[in-house]
Amino acid sequence: MQDGQPVPLRLASCPTCPQCLAPLCTWSPPMTMPRIEMTKKDGARLDKAIRAFRAGGQTLGDLTKAVAKIFGPERADEIATTEVTRACAEEVRTTAEEAKAKGWRMLEIWQTNNDADVCEKCAPLNGTQRGEDWEEYPPLHSNCRCRVGLEMV
Ligand SMILES: [Zn+2]
Ligand SMILES: [Zn+2]
Repeated sequence: MQDGQPVPLRLASCPTCPQCLAPLCTWSPPMTMPRIEMTKKDGARLDKAIRAFRAGGQTLGDLTKAVAKIFGPERADEIATTEVTRACAEEVRTTAEEAKAKGWRMLEIWQTNNDADVCEKCAPLNGTQRGEDWEEYPPLHSNCRCRVGLEMV
């Protein structure tokens, strides 16, 4: 793949995800928000920054600063928030697939931050189940902070 092409990012999973919290939910189509276009090099830098954040010891502010160095300050908040959401969801998706392959039955439950900033599209998804109420993982939109919880049944 040439540099300059958008590149799908696959993040290494982290065992703990201490601070997948971020600012504002705003708007949503009923599907996963696609990743913004970026070069392979920038994608790798973003990947590294998110991994460092998710390993713990960093605030979202630290991540936002790292993202600002790659994409500039204007979009840094938005990209940090949205991509952390994506990384968390990706980890859950992988875990759920592994569990399923082992024959375990897992429920995947949508979880909003349950605060005043959750938007009207995300709010009704809170507590609902993948396969029944939704299919595509968060982020639902730019700045989405939703997560997916796994429950063994
Ligand atoms: Zn929302
Ligand atoms: Zn959301």
